[in-house]
Amino acid sequence: MGIIQELPEQLANRIAAGEVVERPASVVKELVENAIDAGATKIEVDLEEAGIRLIKVRDNGHGFYEEDAPRAFLRHATSKIRDEHDLFRIRTLGFRGEALASIASVSHVTLKSRRTEEDGFEMTLQGGVVMAQTPAAANVGTEIAVSQLFYNTPARLKYLKTSATELASITDTLNRIALSHPEVRLTAFHEDKELLRTSGNGDIKQVMLAIYGRQVAAQIVTASSKTNDYSLSAHLVRPEVTRSNKQYVTLILNGRSIKNFALTQSVLEGYHTLLPIGRYPIAVLEVNMDPMLIDVNVHPTKREVRLSKEKELCQLIRETVQLTLREQRLIPSVKPKERPVNRTEQERLDFTVERTPVTDEPPTWNYPIPREPVTSPSRWSPTPLVNEAPEPIVESEAIETKGERLPPLDVIGQLHASYIVCGAEDGMYVIDQHAAQERIKYELFYEQLGNPDKEYQLLLLPLTLEFTQEETLAIEEVAPLLKEAGLELEPFGGNTFLVREIPTWYPQHDLEGTVRDLIEMAIRDRSVNLAKYREDASILMACKRSIKANHPLNHEMMRQLLHDLNQTTSPYTCPHGRPILVKWSTYELEKLFKRVM
Ligand code: ADP
Ligand code: MG
Repeated sequence: MGIIQELPEQLANRIAAGEVVERPASVVKELVENAIDAGATKIEVDLEEAGIRLIKVRDNGHGFYEEDAPRAFLRHATSKIRDEHDLFRIRTLGFRGEALASIASVSHVTLKSRRTEEDGFEMTLQGGVVMAQTPAAANVGTEIAVSQLFYNTPARLKYLKTSATELASITDTLNRIALSHPEVRLTAFHEDKELLRTSGNGDIKQVMLAIYGRQVAAQIVTASSKTNDYSLSAHLVRPEVTRSNKQYVTLILNGRSIKNFALTQSVLEGYHTLLPIGRYPIAVLEVNMDPMLIDVNVHPTKREVRLSKEKELCQLIRETVQLTLREQRLIPSVKPKERPVNRTEQERLDFTVERTPVTDEPPTWNYPIPREPVTSPSRWSPTPLVNEAPEPIVESEAIETKGERLPPLDVIGQLHASYIVCGAEDGMYVIDQHAAQERIKYELFYEQLGNPDKEYQLLLLPLTLEFTQEETLAIEEVAPLLKEAGLELEPFGGNTFLVREIPTWYPQHDLEGTVRDLIEMAIRDRSVNLAKYREDASILMACKRSIKANHPLNHEMMRQLLHDLNQTTSPYTCPHGRPILVKWSTYELEKLFKRVM
């Protein structure tokens, strides 16, 4: 007698629910996505107790046929695909036909719906079992209320985080959907608190405004680009605004917000030297492509997808981000804060830095930045600026501006042997000499490291390198990768290898270091990105060899430094992303001296 039997439907659904319905946010995601698939232009979400007590989603989509309603709650019941063929051309958010079944199996559900030309109805379910289905007055569209979530799966209920965490997760989910579908008017309330409200006018920047606020929205730059396979629209927040994690990089592929390490990494690489270390950008990247190129059926929640030509897309993203940001002028400017009349001396010269580019959009917001000594109030106040000027202007010689990236600057003098103070037509500039030189050297070394091409140089004495057993095994695996990067390791018994020949671009002063770095990179990343290596090495070398702060410079040296800075491709930030110059506009100075109001 056999012992294997098919599980009852309800039990099977509850097991499946473990995957699809992990937490309240999963329910919100599935219901809102269903509404979008139903063609809704307006969706309202109401939540109680972080969704545990109630999640209600109301839409103005096409609604249910009454006879379809019970079927919609069966597992693998869907109106979105019919055959295997359809699986490769998915344009809807759902297609697996398991969300409603899973949700219903772990909660109480009330469905109210009406199609145009049909009568409305209401259906209730408990634990996935239909309790009642009756005619009911209803607007065209659908309203699904999910209450008592996880009432019959106590383990899942216990596993939930605090309600603040669950609510944060719901908000994140809603934000992602809103960004993916700016054409849908989405509102969400938690009890009396509004979580999100978008206008549905199709403008993604408006959605970013709704989510991230005015200050961030004022910093968005948009760019688009395409290859044969992909079209990309990038909404990048300028690197003046950063966050402490990668969560704020949103990837949208064919209207679906997804998670993908390589693509996110490409965005970060595009921002690379513009961001301070350990800080991350806010950006939304919309990619559209033939659905054939993307496999969304790799994960039950469809957040992870597989792409056919991922490398091509990575490159497109990296280059678009890089070029777009490089075109922006990124000089932070200093502005006196508006203050009430009654102030202390200390407060009077309390500067805030306005981190807006000087060229395009007018400055729109302020925030105090404590991290740069140049702008720190304690350094500047309470002494009036004039007393700090080290000497009278010796001669006025405008710096030649070849790239015209910096305005013509007259060197006034040096401050604290660390900052170069300059006058310009539009105000006063202060340059951090160390940061400036880091930028110059960085570009120089980057150039010197050359294009990693395939010219080789035979070593008089081969390099002999010894590794651990673990490394040796890994090296054998990544040998083809290393060979591509111009590095051939000849086994020399045990864990020892010889290198007889190296590409000419390797920095001469530290061959072994370079070889070891590349091997380490190959083992760690399972790929060798020479461009990235070249960049990292340049940053390191630039930092080590730049003049430090506290180093007196004469006028000639300062002028040379500014000249060299102006020749760089990004004279506004050092390779670590810190600003090189700050500016006080003439107007701002006049305001400080009360010459203007
Ligand atoms: P899937 O979305 O993968 O098809 P679901 O279990 O989420 O599976 O939904 C099952 C079916 O119920 C859908 O295919 C759709 O026909 C119908 N449906 C779900 N939500 C709605 C809605 N808000 N409006 C209209 N039809 C809906
Ligand atoms: Mg669905």
